[in-house]
Amino acid sequence: MHNLSVFNSLTGKKEKFTTFHKDLVHMYVCGPTVYSNVHLGNCRTFISFDIIYRYLLHLGYKVKYVRNITDVGHLENDSDDGEDPIIKKAKKENIEPMEVVQKYTIDFHENLRKLNTIPPSIEPTATGHILEQIELIEKIIKNGFGYIRNGSVYFDVIKFNKNSTYGKLSRRNLDDLVHNSRTLDGQNDKLNPQDFALWKKADSKHIMKWKSPWGEGFPGWHTECSAMSMKYLGNKFDIHGGGIDLKFPHHDCEIAQSEALNENSKVKYWFHANMLTLNGKKMSKSTGNSVLPGELFSGDNNFFSKPYPPNVVRFLFLQAHYRSILDLSEEALMASEKGLKKLEIGIKNISKLKTSKSTSGFDISKWEMSCYKAMNDDFNTPLLIAELFNAIHYSNSVLMGKEKISKKDKNLLMKKTSIFFSQVLGLNLLVDNKNIVSDKLLGKTLDLLIKIRNKSRSNRDFDTSDKIRDELNKIGITLNDNEDETTYEY
Ligand code: AMP
Ligand code: ZN
Repeated sequence: MHNLSVFNSLTGKKEKFTTFHKDLVHMYVCGPTVYSNVHLGNCRTFISFDIIYRYLLHLGYKVKYVRNITDVGHLENDSDDGEDPIIKKAKKENIEPMEVVQKYTIDFHENLRKLNTIPPSIEPTATGHILEQIELIEKIIKNGFGYIRNGSVYFDVIKFNKNSTYGKLSRRNLDDLVHNSRTLDGQNDKLNPQDFALWKKADSKHIMKWKSPWGEGFPGWHTECSAMSMKYLGNKFDIHGGGIDLKFPHHDCEIAQSEALNENSKVKYWFHANMLTLNGKKMSKSTGNSVLPGELFSGDNNFFSKPYPPNVVRFLFLQAHYRSILDLSEEALMASEKGLKKLEIGIKNISKLKTSKSTSGFDISKWEMSCYKAMNDDFNTPLLIAELFNAIHYSNSVLMGKEKISKKDKNLLMKKTSIFFSQVLGLNLLVDNKNIVSDKLLGKTLDLLIKIRNKSRSNRDFDTSDKIRDELNKIGITLNDNEDETTYEY
């Protein structure tokens, strides 16, 4: 059995990881709002959850991983008023809101694929779950925590707070919130300024709107995640996460909604990934301090001197703990590129080690335990990476004849380093390729090509054999003709 302990944002403590349903983990992660290109900060958060997903799978859990697409209702500045940015973009580009949604959903998927994240098990959209949201709001009204004003529905925070705690995740005190709230324009319908919208009335010109018991309108931002998480994971589930900026109001409002529906609702662990900054400053499109993943991969940007491939970016992200702030800078990217190369070469070199009768200078089982200890300590990827460097440091000493390794230990070290590198950290060496092919499939294909090449060589058909070697070389795969066999490197 594993010994995984995780940091729960709700309690502010590390806790032993247990699940509601034995070996099945139910995990919900707030997905992107699809009105613009996914930025690198968003990617960092989704990579953080990819690590959590991968590690749970690695430990042998089945994971029902739900990550939504916010394609309506997330208003500008996270307020209850103002314009929906999807509609704003549609008007600006003179296209349908759903064309905006489609364009940026594709961009989101493409970039996450390049960064080698595993897609979730279910990816529901807010617009595909309007009925569920209406039902949820009706129940909240029935339970006495929602009120209707002029075609909109609001959540009564003061009433909820009488028997429950509003703001417990972000540790905000309602009295302070009340004290600091101003009545803003358009909030006159609310009983209290800190109440939040469950449903908003749409005026006649509003494009994305649906019929509801309260008239035509659209759901509030917090409604969708409560409706979709409950639909797919039930009212008690294991993990709910997102970026740290979602703690308040989004996640605190979700908690209030779920508890208003059913007082037994519970999320066991709240996980929050920390922010990515660019050159020490907040990443923001409005100030221009922002770079898109594609611009970083192609080198087409004003911040960095050259292109950096997705695996270098992923490696950089994993060198910081997911709960720490990470800064993206040329220096950090260069160091990441260098470190990744060193690690890749080191791991590949293990296969070249000459074996001896026994092993000296390294205890592989102890090392493996340290790797698990790192990941079991709230997914500490920087510590796991340090352990991988320890392993290649040892393998380099064997290469230089300073230490020894037995055949059994060599095979074990090859297997374990590659599992931690590829499976756990997701540092697939093929992330730059357009189509991600599994290592196993690629291995089989290469074996076949090598066989065909050997046959051509023995038939003195050097045109074919050279072509196979050269074409593979062009895509980064080198064939090495050794005395008795041909091996490959990529
Ligand atoms: P959004 O599309 O704005 O809803 O954001 C999608 C996810 O990215 C959310 O979980 C945000 O908390 C997260 N996020 C936004 N900005 C950053 C950033 N600079 N660094 C890390 N995560 C971020
Ligand atoms: Zn959400």
